[in-house]
Amino acid sequence: MSNILVYALHYEGAFNKNSLGAVAEASRLAGELGGEAHAVVVGEGIADDLAATLGSYGATKVYKAEGPEGLAGPVIDTFGKLFDGGEYQYAVFGGGLLGFEIGAGLAARIDAGVTMEVTGVNVVDGKLVAERPILGDSSISTSRYKDKGIIIARLNAFEVKETGGAAATVENITADLSPQAQQANIVTRGEQRGADVDIEGASILVAGGRGLGKAEGFELCDDLAKAFGGNSAVAATRAVVDAGWYPYAAQIGQTGKTVAPKLYLAAGISGAIQHKVGMQSSENIVAINKDANAPIFEFSDLGIVGDLNKILPKLTEAVKARKG
Ligand SMILES: Cc1cc2nc3c(=O)[nH]c(=O)nc-3n(C[C@H](O)[C@H](O)[C@H](O)COP(=O)(O)OP(=O)(O)OC[C@H]3O[C@@H](n4cnc5c(N)ncnc54)[C@H](O)[C@@H]3O)c2cc1C
Repeated sequence: MSNILVYALHYEGAFNKNSLGAVAEASRLAGELGGEAHAVVVGEGIADDLAATLGSYGATKVYKAEGPEGLAGPVIDTFGKLFDGGEYQYAVFGGGLLGFEIGAGLAARIDAGVTMEVTGVNVVDGKLVAERPILGDSSISTSRYKDKGIIIARLNAFEVKETGGAAATVENITADLSPQAQQANIVTRGEQRGADVDIEGASILVAGGRGLGKAEGFELCDDLAKAFGGNSAVAATRAVVDAGWYPYAAQIGQTGKTVAPKLYLAAGISGAIQHKVGMQSSENIVAINKDANAPIFEFSDLGIVGDLNKILPKLTEAVKARKG
């Protein structure tokens, strides 16, 4: 029971970064429990060679199941079957929206405890103890499990670490899909604007909020990010993502990405706690807001009170001029 199951989400020939962090973390934890990390991949025609590369992140075995990638039902059924074998007590997931869906479904399926938004896991007396921030990240709660435990990480909470392990053994498994897992199909996949931008790796982020007024307002942020050049990108708040002004891939915050660039320039963003938790570790925070009492000024290094429609174009010109 000291082996740990961990999910590796795969899409078009590559494993998702969150999943690689989860595999590395599961490997560390299993090592402390005296066991191994066994990864699970569910997808269509995933090559054995690719599955075996999870060995580099610490998985010794990979269970490979055929099924539609990106749906929770088949993953729940596959994990359920593996838990039914009685060999496992814990499962680890890298987080994200799919992780939440899988966590809830799997907890019901195998009668386990589940902790979401986990940012740290420890081994105490031979058992896993999960930590998750609560009350707007002002405190940490710890979860212990009576028996089986499911750990769903906060997005990117676990560091992607290559362990230098050998190629993992690949074992094909087939799980009978439950009626509910067969109720959903992927009809189409779409690429979102900005989905290819590496927000988490950017050293300068120009973030826009509802103060931009409309979707076209993001052109001001795009122009400034372009003027900075190099490793710069545009980010967004949930309010504007929900309004359809900018893609979800660029959302920063509790239900988006966590970033820590050298410069985070927030334009027309109020600074709600759910946004703050995703960007508060930035080295320098500069905020532009027309409301001098906006909460964002409480945690900014530099605050500019004024209309972003006037300030952003001037800033873009100044950056261009400085660059040459
Ligand atoms: C469970 C939950 C999860 C959430 N997750 C997230 C998350 O991941 N990320 C996130 O961002 N939010 C999240 N939210 C939403 C969050 O609570 C806020 O509603 C959101 O962050 C507000 O976005 P905003 O700052 O763009 O908009 P607003 O709060 O409306 O702020 C707009 C700001 O723009 C300023 N402004 C207006 N016009 C101008 C102008 N011309 N020039 C300069 N300034 C101007 C205003 O003074 C105001 O401060 C979550 C909420 C919940 C309940």
